[in-house]
Amino acid sequence: MKPLDTLGRPLQALRISVTDRCNFRCGYCMPRDAFGPDHPFLAREALLSFEEITRLARIFTGLGVAKVRLTGGEPLLRRELPVLVKMLAEVPGLEDLALTTNGVLLPELAADLRAAGLRRLTVSLDTLRPDRFQTLSDTDLSLSRVLAGLDAARAAGFTTLKLNCVLQRGVNEDEILDLAGFAREQGHTLRFIEFMDVGTTNGWRLASVVPATEIHQLLNARWPLEPLPSPAGSVASEWRYRDGRGEVGLIASVTAPFCRGCDRARLSADGHLYTCLFASEGLDLKGFLRSGHGDADLAALLAAQWKRRDDRYSELRRADTPGLPKIEMSHIGG
Ligand code: SAM
Ligand code: SF4
Ligand code: SF4
Repeated sequence: MKPLDTLGRPLQALRISVTDRCNFRCGYCMPRDAFGPDHPFLAREALLSFEEITRLARIFTGLGVAKVRLTGGEPLLRRELPVLVKMLAEVPGLEDLALTTNGVLLPELAADLRAAGLRRLTVSLDTLRPDRFQTLSDTDLSLSRVLAGLDAARAAGFTTLKLNCVLQRGVNEDEILDLAGFAREQGHTLRFIEFMDVGTTNGWRLASVVPATEIHQLLNARWPLEPLPSPAGSVASEWRYRDGRGEVGLIASVTAPFCRGCDRARLSADGHLYTCLFASEGLDLKGFLRSGHGDADLAALLAAQWKRRDDRYSELRRADTPGLPKIEMSHIGG
């Protein structure tokens, strides 16, 4: 039973947020004035347990999900994360298990994550300038720790990493070539992501978005590019450097939305299911789980929810949408 939603889209990918906490306060995601010391983060008992997450992953896999990405908040803050990775790596039918992190805790955790069965890692990197890093991530932790994290990941066996860079006009757009040059040298695949209007606290304005076409022009002028075929469900347009020095991705979520191919569900750390990054409401799976329902009931609930899905926020985005109620990125998992 593999459900299709109202636009004929299958359910193939699941993002699982394992915590709503983070050791950074990136302005585009968890600005400090909205996520200060009094912010009501989830209590431990409100989080899904590893057993609950794995059970749900197994049920989702039965409905067609083959790809799972762990995210957050900062997923490496979740205690014993490698234990969860090991449990998920053993779920039959789950072909692709990945994780997105800000990288700061990789020196401590990369080897354990690898040993637990993680094969794909994405590290967020918006700047190579230490002072700018401090401003953008609004933390006392330093850029050198993230760079040490990249080295630790390589030493642990993650030879090719994905690097995510969110560009903001007038903030870090002047580093496009430096970041691309760094990724080329290191053998990593950089993906530039357009700044999105996720949540309601990040002060998003269309004028702050650096369009993917502009990034492409700049890169192509320096290192000529050729397109790669996009795999089904891919959100990035992927390009190869003609000189053979690797690949680069452009995620044009704002200027060229890809809702028609969106096959992702999202599970928040407190067990709510969201069928769009810009959703305002989730389905309380944790309540359902904890009230003793069996796997068949859960599968039927998930399938019914997916069949109802008509989300295509990015296609419908208008100048007035930033004011609508939306869930925050750190809750839903980026
Ligand atoms: N803490 C981890 C990290 O930063 O990689 C994982 C969670 S984070 C929410 C996942 C991804 O979402 C990161 O690559 C981050 O840069 C991206 N992100 C957060 N807010 C965003 C926004 N407003 N627009 C575009 N990307 C955003
Ligand atoms: Fe934390 Fe990642 Fe959000 Fe930055 S983007 S505040 S590192 S969750
Ligand atoms: Fe998918 Fe929603 Fe993003 Fe469209 S706006 S691509 S439906 S998550």
